[in-house]
Amino acid sequence: MPPITALPPGCAYHPRCERATERCRREIPVLEDGTACFHPLAPAEAAS
Ligand code: SF4
Repeated sequence: MPPITALPPGCAYHPRCERATERCRREIPVLEDGTACFHPLAPAEAAS
C-alpha cells in the first residue's frame, strides 16, 4: 500500500494490480458481497 497521504485516485492497489482496468484507476471500489474489488478472483482462481 502507498502511504495514506499519497494514495492514487481510484483503487489504492491499481498501480501494482495485474487485474486493474481503467475503472480501477478512476473509481474507488466499495465493499459488496464480501469484497471491495471491481474484478475479484473467482473462488477457483483464489484457491490456486
Ligand atoms: S479494484 Fe480490484 S482489480 Fe481493480 S485495482 Fe483494485 S484490487 Fe485490482
